[in-house]
Amino acid sequence: MLEKSMQAYKEALQVIPGGVDSPVRAFKSVGGVPPFIDRGEGAFIYDIDGNSYIDYVQSWGPLIFGHADKETLDAVCNQAQKGLSFGAPTLIETELAKEIVELFDNIDKIRFVSSGTEAVMSAIRLARGYTGRDDIVKFEGCYHGHSDSLLVSAGSGAATFGNPSSPGVPADFTKHTLLARYNDLESVKKCFEASDNIACVIIEPIAGNMGLVPAEEDFLVGLRKLCDEYGALLIFDEVMSGFRASLKGAQAFTSVVPDMVTFGKVIGGGMPVGAFGARAEIMAHLSPEGPVYQAGTLSGNPVAMAAGLSVIRRLKANPELYNVLEARAKGLVGGFQKIAQAHGVPLQVDVRGSMFGFFFNENPVKNFDDAKRSDLEFFAKFHQEMIKRGVYFACSQFEAGFICEPLDEKLIDMTLEKIEEALKKIV
Ligand code: PLP
Repeated sequence: MLEKSMQAYKEALQVIPGGVDSPVRAFKSVGGVPPFIDRGEGAFIYDIDGNSYIDYVQSWGPLIFGHADKETLDAVCNQAQKGLSFGAPTLIETELAKEIVELFDNIDKIRFVSSGTEAVMSAIRLARGYTGRDDIVKFEGCYHGHSDSLLVSAGSGAATFGNPSSPGVPADFTKHTLLARYNDLESVKKCFEASDNIACVIIEPIAGNMGLVPAEEDFLVGLRKLCDEYGALLIFDEVMSGFRASLKGAQAFTSVVPDMVTFGKVIGGGMPVGAFGARAEIMAHLSPEGPVYQAGTLSGNPVAMAAGLSVIRRLKANPELYNVLEARAKGLVGGFQKIAQAHGVPLQVDVRGSMFGFFFNENPVKNFDDAKRSDLEFFAKFHQEMIKRGVYFACSQFEAGFICEPLDEKLIDMTLEKIEEALKKIV
């Protein structure tokens, strides 16, 4: 069934570390061979063995209109014919910047880069440059890309200071990163007590990288207050939730207004893009207006901008789409919960717009410690059974799922049938 993928994987392993260009793709936490993908269309992906899958990953979030979406492809092809990159200003960058900035009272200016990692790395540099401080606070279980100072896990000693979570990251580079617990304001207070040099607090306001775990309103309100009290900037990392959870990302779900926002994924429509924005007074510190250096050969790449502009304009023209996708996501996890209950399988679910998450867990999940108490073995078995049945969920318990526009109720019902079959098999 996966013969060609198995062969392709063996060959890839010879020339690419682990056979993949980003670790999670190797299916290590669920076992088995990762299907090698030949093409996608709408809600489906097709592997090189000819298997098809209903795709709830959608390239880890960017493809809100699904695979090989005609309008996005037309925008890309039209732009590509004019040239792939100039390294000089183009009209289309300003057009996309205007479309995004127009939606947010707290964002006057935005700078485009080529990935979410770059967006966050640059936003943090700007926050440090703006405040003249070095330390940052991040939360356990939130992922902000793979830049050195953000690859941090909880230290064994003083609870607040993190250790590098990867060899190759000098401890000196992470000593300015303090770690707090998601949805736990006391832990953030401890960080502010431990350091009077905090430039910013960065958070995924709807966390999607420990499974889907939304931040509670009281917690966000408390964060805002602490940042104001200590003169630190609050950064919402909306690389995943931006234009995914709603047209205004997490800001539609909270009264809290961040100082800076990072974007990626959906704003590139499947092309490599990231961005960060803030009010003009903060952005004025960025080079060439100000002294904080930041640059990129392919930043604001015209083909990526064309894809993004097409997607963002369509989303703005049809904001009702988020309600439609949210209803479908609720249909999926609601149905899943009923089936799980009938089989005596403990399941926690949540939805934010077109993002959904589920944990095989007895208790509600509020932070990374809770998420880690999920039944990971059961998840691995479940994932394997779903792949066999043509449903492609993210290959880790600690990832969110995504509904794209072509993934309709019929496909959700089909998925629920497969879930029923899978649970029958493994319970
Ligand atoms: N921030 C968040 C919230 C993310 O989910 C991701 C990627 O999943 C990143 C940053 C890094 O983005 P990229 O993989 O484009 O570098």
